[in-house]
Amino acid sequence: MTVYLVGAGPGDPGLLTVRAAEVLARADVVVHDRLSVATLLDLAPAGAERISVGKTPRGPSTPQEQIDTLLVERGRAGQEVVRLKGGDPFVFARGAEEAAALAAAGVAFEVVPGITSAVAVPAYAGVPLTARGLTTTFTVVTGHEDVQGAGVTDWEAVARLGGTIVVLMGVAHRADIAARLLGGGLSPDTPVAAVQWGTRPEQRSQRSTLASLGTAEIASPAVIVIGATAALDLAWYERLPLFGRSVAVTRPTATAGELSRRLVRLGARAVEVPCTRIVEAADGGAALRTAAARVADVDWVVFTSAEAVGRFLPLLRDARAFGAARVAAIGRGTADALAAGAVVADLVPDRFVAESLLAAFPPPPAGRPGRVLLPRAAVARDVLPDGLRAAGWEVEVVEAYRTEVAPPPPPAMVVEAASADAVAFTSSSAVTAFLEVAGPEALAPIVACIGPVTAATARRHGIAVDVEAEPHTLDGLLDALVATLGPRREE
Ligand code: SAH
Repeated sequence: MTVYLVGAGPGDPGLLTVRAAEVLARADVVVHDRLSVATLLDLAPAGAERISVGKTPRGPSTPQEQIDTLLVERGRAGQEVVRLKGGDPFVFARGAEEAAALAAAGVAFEVVPGITSAVAVPAYAGVPLTARGLTTTFTVVTGHEDVQGAGVTDWEAVARLGGTIVVLMGVAHRADIAARLLGGGLSPDTPVAAVQWGTRPEQRSQRSTLASLGTAEIASPAVIVIGATAALDLAWYERLPLFGRSVAVTRPTATAGELSRRLVRLGARAVEVPCTRIVEAADGGAALRTAAARVADVDWVVFTSAEAVGRFLPLLRDARAFGAARVAAIGRGTADALAAGAVVADLVPDRFVAESLLAAFPPPPAGRPGRVLLPRAAVARDVLPDGLRAAGWEVEVVEAYRTEVAPPPPPAMVVEAASADAVAFTSSSAVTAFLEVAGPEALAPIVACIGPVTAATARRHGIAVDVEAEPHTLDGLLDALVATLGPRREE
């Protein structure tokens, strides 16, 4: 029954703290500033209430007193409240006022510091705030106040301090700020680095000097670094193999989350298009529970998705319930899901398709019937059960879950998907679901498929496939995307 004032970091979802993820996962309500932290909001339980309180520059926003009152009310009601703020909650973020209001009302609160943009954005642009021999201090200043008027900041004193100067919210007043720093004695040649949308695929960094800062073309939100270290160029983020690219992916699939995460780590934006949703089996899981109780009676359990693994393993008392039954996984992702449950797959085929699994599968035992259990999605290809039966196995197919078509996405999402650089499909069902839900107009110019079966499905729908991964794994798909797209180039 606590209100958490949580820093969300500067944008890259990987810069959220472990503590922030923990409290988000248990939140009853999340009060957040901007939609740009959408992927972080996904960390809250599906049923948690999400309240946007605006706070976009020039956009509509909720008055601070109303936010304070909201936090106090929800805290008093005994809810777990997460107040999610960009960067750090106590750095130019009015977290102090919120904490004071909670303290005055006697509501328990906890502050979860975040990685502030003042530090992280220069780091992602390869600009260190201190460097041995160059600076002994860095000063973080807001440029939001009226710089020409009396103001609160003694810019001349900041200039005299001489270290690295980090200006947040300074874009609008940059000419006045430059003039006052020059007035305070800084050289016109003092290096400047301005970084817009830092830590995100839209990041743009621009070098200038104090003399030209006033006329440099910089747009908000940006962090402006002024000082000797701004001349250093240790760029890395903007050199990632898919930096600035965007790739549409369908979700959820067993691999969507992993694919999105890895695209982000390569510098790209993942545009997640909700196409399907995974729901419980039609019988509420009864058949799967029965099958799990008798798992030791079969010779093999064959898993064709991480989702099926995730639904089957928790039904066992522990991994020993398999008894002598052996376990096959159709691909690496499925095998990894098994490994996470301390089950090492006995068989993973070289190529991750049903045909390859069949080719690698041993013959049934002589002298008695051989039995295979196949827990999987309600609608799936019959290649595997048919092939196993043809080879002499008795196959029990059990519905582990169903995949439903999601409701149509909002038009803005269709536009975003269509304007991505590529769309990546990790299964045949992802292709058909995408076409059904978002339509062919949502296809990006480059179509990438994880393997030949997925590609064939796409072609059957009249889609020209530009990229076919080899090997048919996420690694193969990402390598193929890197080879085809490469990083975004500035025009
Ligand atoms: N509490 C936040 C700061 C909020 S003030 C923090 O600790 O980071 C908002 C200002 O932060 C913006 O005007 C901009 O100067 C800076 N900022 C925040 N995120 C940024 C980003 N991703 N890229 C560039 N500047 C950013």
